[in-house]
Amino acid sequence: MKLKRHSNIDWKDPSRYLQKIFLEASSRGNQYAEEIIARAGLPVTIVDDKDFDNIVAGNYPANLSTGKKSLLLCSNKGEFLKGCPATREYRCCDYQVINVGMGCPMNCVYCILQAYLNNPYISFFVNIDDLFNELQKKIDAEASAFSRIGTGEFSDSMALDRITELSRKLVPFFGQWGNVILELKTKCAAVDNLKDLKHNDKTIVSWSLNSPEIMAHEEFRAATLEQRLEAAAKCASWGYPLSFHFDPIIAHDNWQEGYEYTIDALFSAVPKSAIRWISLGGFRYLPKLKDIATGRFPHSTIFYHEFIEGLDKKQRYFRPLRTSIYKTIYQKLSAVVDPKTCIYFCMESDEIWQEVMGFVPAQKGGLGAMLDASVQR
Ligand code: SF4
Repeated sequence: MKLKRHSNIDWKDPSRYLQKIFLEASSRGNQYAEEIIARAGLPVTIVDDKDFDNIVAGNYPANLSTGKKSLLLCSNKGEFLKGCPATREYRCCDYQVINVGMGCPMNCVYCILQAYLNNPYISFFVNIDDLFNELQKKIDAEASAFSRIGTGEFSDSMALDRITELSRKLVPFFGQWGNVILELKTKCAAVDNLKDLKHNDKTIVSWSLNSPEIMAHEEFRAATLEQRLEAAAKCASWGYPLSFHFDPIIAHDNWQEGYEYTIDALFSAVPKSAIRWISLGGFRYLPKLKDIATGRFPHSTIFYHEFIEGLDKKQRYFRPLRTSIYKTIYQKLSAVVDPKTCIYFCMESDEIWQEVMGFVPAQKGGLGAMLDASVQR
């Protein structure tokens, strides 16, 4: 399958797209911020805490493409840990999110953050001591519970890692505990910082995958399929468990061929025994996202399809199309996957689980328990 990329630039490491750093005035003297600034080698502007709106000129979302070149280093004044913003109506995986910052330098047409956030710039929190204190308290308080925690909900886990080196702090921290799993979820291929870390199998490195057509035309500045899988193979060779997310699955011409191509490439590139889970999530979006994304990416046709409003108020494909795509992908995956790998739906109803997979999560103790079992092998 031959596909054209929109540019010949190598996007293995999207942090190279950054052009400017802004440091909030009250974080001056923060040692971690100084380390990041030194590694980035970019011009730095000190910005008063009340002047963040002036970091990028223009109005949101028209200024978002420009904003993605600017990184604000600041303190998180709230809590770092949150429950995944799931909805009650669909089966959810009991995931927790570490909020390390907002936004990312990549530019996916379907990115939900375009509608969730209202800042064009990327932010990253440098009060790292507060983060680790909060994590430690949580682990101490829930010593007997098993948790899965990720950093890739409001940003991409590895997109800024070359300059933040956050993975070099998080991975050994999580490696010390028996009952907490960290998932680093990304679309980039900048994984060198993960080499030689004491992960103790407690960090799962994870990639979002899609059909080559969608990756080429709807995921700008993201690594290619080959680059993502090469990075995943490297992580597997360093002993890391892996996971993959087919999300959002998007209906397009020759979608069957495209998703099958990606699955074949995945299982040729990485040992299947390294894969702990694979999620499937159909394209869904808040109505507000359509206006923003079609305005920013007029070439894209992914919103021009028939959709129905789900119980969570998001637009989704009609059920027959969803189940048809899911069945194709699930059957292909089931034929090649390791029996211990958990294949699951992100935010789908019991009816869809039953129709596609032939069971509902409750029969196996719930989705959270299924995922916990796949890492506690
Ligand atoms: S990589 Fe993730 S966070 Fe970044 S633009 Fe794409 S969907 Fe959004």
